[in-house]
Amino acid sequence: MVQLTLGTKRTALALYGVLLVLPTLVFGGLNWRQLVLDHQTMLAAVPGSARDATRRVRDNIRTAVRSMLEREEIRGFFEYRPNYFPPGTIGTDLALVPSPLSTGPTLPQIKGYFSYTHLDVSRGRPPIVLLGSHQADSDAEYQRSQLLAASIELQRRNRARFQLMHDLRDFFDVRVRQSGDPTRTLLMPSIVRPFEYKLPLLAINLSEEENIECMRDELPALRGLDEQTQVVSVSSFRLRFYRDDLGSPRVVASRTVSIPTNKGLAQMQGCFEALGRMTKIEQGFFIDPDWLFRDLPAESARNSLDPGAQLFIPMDAVNDPGVSTADGFTIQPVHDLPLEITDPADQTYGTVKVVVNVRDLERSFRTQMVRFMGVAAMLVVSLGTGLLLLLRSVNRDLESARRTENFIAAVTHELRTPVAAIKLYGEMLQDGWVDDDPGKLKEYYRRIVRETGRLETLVENVLEKSQIARREGEPEPGDLNAVVESLEASLKSLGPEGIADLEFQYDADLPPVMLNAEGVRSIVTNLVENARKYAPVKAGPGVPEPIVVRTHVLAGLPVLDVMDRGPGIPHAERTKIFQAFYRVGNEQTRTARGTGLGLHLVMLQTTSMRARVGVLDRKGGGTVFRVTFQAAPAFE
Ligand code: ADP
Repeated sequence: MVQLTLGTKRTALALYGVLLVLPTLVFGGLNWRQLVLDHQTMLAAVPGSARDATRRVRDNIRTAVRSMLEREEIRGFFEYRPNYFPPGTIGTDLALVPSPLSTGPTLPQIKGYFSYTHLDVSRGRPPIVLLGSHQADSDAEYQRSQLLAASIELQRRNRARFQLMHDLRDFFDVRVRQSGDPTRTLLMPSIVRPFEYKLPLLAINLSEEENIECMRDELPALRGLDEQTQVVSVSSFRLRFYRDDLGSPRVVASRTVSIPTNKGLAQMQGCFEALGRMTKIEQGFFIDPDWLFRDLPAESARNSLDPGAQLFIPMDAVNDPGVSTADGFTIQPVHDLPLEITDPADQTYGTVKVVVNVRDLERSFRTQMVRFMGVAAMLVVSLGTGLLLLLRSVNRDLESARRTENFIAAVTHELRTPVAAIKLYGEMLQDGWVDDDPGKLKEYYRRIVRETGRLETLVENVLEKSQIARREGEPEPGDLNAVVESLEASLKSLGPEGIADLEFQYDADLPPVMLNAEGVRSIVTNLVENARKYAPVKAGPGVPEPIVVRTHVLAGLPVLDVMDRGPGIPHAERTKIFQAFYRVGNEQTRTARGTGLGLHLVMLQTTSMRARVGVLDRKGGGTVFRVTFQAAPAFE
């Protein structure tokens, strides 16, 4: 039996493990691993994507600056005058047109243009300043004065650095050629392009004369030069960053225009006198530092950073503790473009950082983990419940098998004992052992009849169980006292000789009860038989207390009690004893005969009458079996 229990349980658990728990564990484990690996891969990709993003932002800034310079590069040097003489328009009359640099449109990030010749410098003349599109601003006059001041300061600086720049330029040329970076080359001031202009155009645009009448008068002198050209060298723009006298940042793009001495024209006089000598013009424009260091990086970041990749530029929050800078990559416009500087400390001006917000990554990983744990917890709960149900079902089956086994043992025992007795007495009678003793003869016949009765009860019990299951029919109102009374005589007669072990007490006021007479008889017989079996009344000193069968009303309900003075029934057994074939203890140690069917039949009968049965401790020792009936509805 024990082996069966353990073996069956082990098989059930093994099956459950192989079919459900193992696949779940493997699947869950693989999923978990994948989750962690994915997270690690994403974290590992973060620096790479940040580096790419940084490069994109840097390229974006460079491209924007380069395209601005290219746009300005193609502008003729003569446009840096308020009015100029456009190429190809020389004729009988002299027509000057206003420069786009004085009226616009020009790029908004260019704050203004300046231009001066080395002659202006030596003569102490202020540079020409033009506001371009900003001419239309409401504070144009203020801007002009600012621009003029800045240009004069620049003039001064240039004069001081004139020699130094020459030396430096040689140095830069070498350095750029060595680094081989085309972007740098393009931004460097070392490229000098030759442009060929017709002499009249140069003569007019270089004239320092403000009086147009003078030029008109001398125009015929230029007609003869119409077909002659002069090469003008124009350097590409070089970008410079410095702080002005007040410490404000300045970004300047400047170029040098060189018109060499034309010895053949040295005799030119009056308005066009400048044509004959060498002229060097320094011209360029001031770039808005706010645009270069703030707006442009911000816009580049917007265009080239992927918000999904959690990359951004915290312009003012590089040191913000709330931003998790797992890895940061810097953009240094001064170094990256590059801008010429004189103060090495300016190298880091306007540095911004591309940082990676790994908090979002971590947060999403945590969410996934919590979700996974939730699913895992649910699985554990459902697998646990499944395991519990499985074990319970296995236990129930094992219990049922145990009871059937018990029953078969009991029935075999119950059958064998009376059959053996009947056979023994029958053989003794047949062989004439007691023929001469009429007393014994009678006794043997009586014993045969008693054993046959026992056999009959057993068979009836087994039959009754299946009958109750099949029986239909509702309980009917009846007199409980009358039904019990009808059994009194026969039950008393079956008791032990010489002792009145049974007492009946009837409540005369008992109301009609919903009952089934056959069922009540079975209940009373079984309970009395049990009491006699497990709590027999023995003759002894004093007055023996009999088994009591009584009817009474309790809390308004009709009740039938069968009470004994036996050993009682342990609490743990009280629900089990009503199960079919259940017997307290085990078959080997039990002394009383039985099949474990008696109380089960009692239970079946009571429920078929919609009554209830229960076991209680009896005051002073013993057991009370109490059947609570339903009172019959009152008649109309
Ligand atoms: P059986 O009597 O055939 O064993 P029952 O279903 O009638 O089966 O009883 C179930 C068990 O309940 C018995 O094995 C017995 O141990 C216990 N029992 C029944 N009646 C009493 C009682 N009056 N006093 C003590 N134990 C009892």
